[in-house]
Amino acid sequence: MSYKFGENSLKNRAGINPDLIEILDRAVEISIYDFGVPEHGGVRSAETQKKLFDQGVSKADGTTHKSFHQTANAVDVYAYVNGQASWNHEHLAVVAAAMLQASSELGIPLEWGGLWTGFCDRPHFQLAKD
Ligand SMILES: [Zn+2]
Repeated sequence: MSYKFGENSLKNRAGINPDLIEILDRAVEISIYDFGVPEHGGVRSAETQKKLFDQGVSKADGTTHKSFHQTANAVDVYAYVNGQASWNHEHLAVVAAAMLQASSELGIPLEWGGLWTGFCDRPHFQLAKD
């Protein structure tokens, strides 16, 4: 049960920090659930960030509060279960376990938005600040 990313996920993650690519590639090998990277799940322009903020799906407006997506240091994922995209908490938690295990194996500190208090952002992963 080793998955790999499809064409759309590869396109959507293009340009993100190579450390995140390494983590994603390892995580998708070991994850129990398949997963992918949605549109806007990788690098974002300030304009895209503002649009997502206006839609209420992101807390960062792109200017006064910048998202890690704007510096290519974040990635969003969705689980892919039974032939469809899933944002189910349990599915995302399993994917997160794979992402965090991959980060640990590779020695690249990663932060999962699912552990944030306040605005819990389960699809979101970012490189940890040192
Ligand atoms: Zn995100």
